[in-house]
Amino acid sequence: MPTMTINGRAAATHAEFDVLNPATGKIYTQAPEATREQVDEAMAAAAVAFEGWRDDEPLRRRTLTDLAASVRDATPELAAILAEENGKPLDLGGTEGVVGSVWCDYYAGLELPREVLRDDAGATVEVLRRPLGVVAAITPWNMPIGLAFFKIAPALRAGNTMVLKPSPFTPVSTLRLAEILRDALPPGVLNVVSGGDEVGRWVAGHPTPRKVSFTGSVEAGRAVNTAAAPDLKRVTLELGGNDPAILLDDVDVAAVAEGLFWTAFFNNGQACALVKRVYAAQPIYADLVDALAEVARRVRVGDPTDATTQLGALATRPQFERVSELVEHALAHGATAVAGGAPLDGDGLFFAPTILTGVDDGLRIVDEEQFGPALPVLPFTDEADAVRRANATSFGLGASVWSGDLERGAAVARRLDAGTTWVNTHAALSPDAPFGGLKWSGLGVENGPWGLHAYTDIQVLHRNRGAAGPGAV
Ligand code: NAD
Repeated sequence: MPTMTINGRAAATHAEFDVLNPATGKIYTQAPEATREQVDEAMAAAAVAFEGWRDDEPLRRRTLTDLAASVRDATPELAAILAEENGKPLDLGGTEGVVGSVWCDYYAGLELPREVLRDDAGATVEVLRRPLGVVAAITPWNMPIGLAFFKIAPALRAGNTMVLKPSPFTPVSTLRLAEILRDALPPGVLNVVSGGDEVGRWVAGHPTPRKVSFTGSVEAGRAVNTAAAPDLKRVTLELGGNDPAILLDDVDVAAVAEGLFWTAFFNNGQACALVKRVYAAQPIYADLVDALAEVARRVRVGDPTDATTQLGALATRPQFERVSELVEHALAHGATAVAGGAPLDGDGLFFAPTILTGVDDGLRIVDEEQFGPALPVLPFTDEADAVRRANATSFGLGASVWSGDLERGAAVARRLDAGTTWVNTHAALSPDAPFGGLKWSGLGVENGPWGLHAYTDIQVLHRNRGAAGPGAV
């Protein structure tokens, strides 16, 4: 059984919970359920470690380079765990390790210019970025390793230490990751405690952390924000999305259909910034539906450990039931499944890639975040109306416009209410570009220098060379 890491060592296991394999429906293994005392111990270890870690930037940069190498080496092992606990194919699990190593390398190499506001005979005034202290990080089940590194890499580079709690559905990969990294990090810099939502509440509401960095649902994000408020903890919230893709009438359907399909069905649709609804111009609508359905029908769904599998199982039973319910609801309200439309037979949580037509705004599958392999495709006749419909949501994570003319696409993309807007792609993330959501999709951003700054407080250092006393502007 994997162990929790507290202060650089394996923590004792007092209680445990089952982790299911969603591809077989059987128990994969057990994971430790942290006690409240263990959360306290992890926080105390992180607080002690902060004192040395905060002052040694060269060490932090070297360590991140070492972490990148360790994660690269561990990628096959982590991918094998992710196949078991999350149901994702091995190559897809491998991309999470790649994200981990790329993000660590990026933050190790990021040069931060000195920010001097004034430097003259009267004074030197500069802006310093101070680490916050201990950071509580809480992650979801859909991309446990990749999303953890969106937090670990910038937080540690900035000089913070961390207590990380993974999802109870997929704790094993994160627990194993911390075991692997024990030797590469000073004790207490990265602690991992596992358990259910209650452990998440202890972590978020604990008096020690100065920040909570959360990725997950809107509902839990609100609870985290509330828990952080009395202590004025900083928060970064990466929450849900209901990303639209608008396809203009000049799109070459044959050229884009397969790429568009995978921007919706990557990871079985279980990622925040994937295409969740398509608005296609009427002249290309029928061809697009046919092309998407053709791709959907030939996707190989099955055993995540089989190298030829393209889509594995859905990761959790509640998620599987939610997707099933939303598709059933759509079909009962006039929708047609031109591909898929139902779960696949067997004990695993497999669902046929589903393309839905005959749906309209207002239907649950269009208005809610389905977070699964079922895509509604809607026609439009008027571009301005498509933009209005795309924006008519409480979410604002990503959005895309697809066009034969990049500038025409960009002009429409500017009018979309989303943290990231793409033209002729979607869900393309990189370590140097800020990523975050508008409206209910979140607070703050991750990645790039902006993501690093989110793990700091600003301090102004003013060296006065003139007369003592309050200075004039
Ligand atoms: P979830 O909110 O149920 O759980 C996420 C984590 O929060 C888990 O570790 C859970 O134990 C913990 N948690 C739950 N309630 C808590 C509370 N009150 N206080 C503290 N911690 C608590 O989300 P999930 O089902 O694991 O993930 C799916 C959701 O995550 C989707 O809505 C998806 O859009 C979102 N997501 C967002 C991004 C992004 O970057 N914007 C990325 C991936 C997933």
